[in-house]
Amino acid sequence: MVEPARLSLNTATVRERWTLRQCIEGCARHGIGGISPWRDMLAACGVAEAARLIQDHGLTVTGLCRGGMFPAATASGFQRNLDDNRRAIDEAAAIGARCLVLVVGGLPEGSKSLAGARAQVREGIAAVLDHARRAGIPLAIEPLHPMYAGDRSCVTSLAEANDLCDALGPGVGIALDVYHVWWDAALAREIVRAGRERLLAFHVCDWLVPTRDLLFDRGMMGDGVIDIPLIRRMVEAVGYDGLIEVEIFSRDHWWKEDPDEVLRTLIARARTSI
Ligand code: ZN
Repeated sequence: MVEPARLSLNTATVRERWTLRQCIEGCARHGIGGISPWRDMLAACGVAEAARLIQDHGLTVTGLCRGGMFPAATASGFQRNLDDNRRAIDEAAAIGARCLVLVVGGLPEGSKSLAGARAQVREGIAAVLDHARRAGIPLAIEPLHPMYAGDRSCVTSLAEANDLCDALGPGVGIALDVYHVWWDAALAREIVRAGRERLLAFHVCDWLVPTRDLLFDRGMMGDGVIDIPLIRRMVEAVGYDGLIEVEIFSRDHWWKEDPDEVLRTLIARARTSI
């Protein structure tokens, strides 16, 4: 039972039909307390204009999606990725985001070295960390499901994210998304290990059986097999009291629906299935 004021809308959930301005106004209209914009939608709106709109509507910015994508095949490519992350940090600060979500990146083109990619991720986060600390923006590593190790995230479990936090120190935490971690036998233990300090964001949707697309077939809470209330209890037991961010990539279903209906549905499901 989660009230709308405790929800945050990840704008990817309605991105096919709404601009960022419409997302902000939609959240306010439905009583949703927070928003988590994607950078392309932020750029289309204009960072200053978005900051003003978000403030005018009193929304909490639970995160900016996303930084990361560190590994590169060349040194110059790696530097470009660092520069892009510094820009993302500045944008996160400009809109008052609670964190910058990092989808850290998979294998660079032509590489089969996961160890090399993981080393670049660690080096990359370390390289931008001072910038993030000065800006007051915590970096939230989001471990992704292992099916994305090739192209999106060589950090595939909460344990790996915790290891990175151990190595990198203050200013680095975790965005925990039930879609990516629900299968993990070590989940309860690693949530305790992360603790309140590291848990910067909590994302929800559901895992559909069968899943028809690796990227674009996430389910509405309650339509799949994840015990979301159980995972919520785990994060709250260690002190997480932030907003709960709904992030649904659903090309063939929810992206086609009227966004107002999507928001009404996710609010209803928050009461029954989170
Ligand atoms: Zn997420």
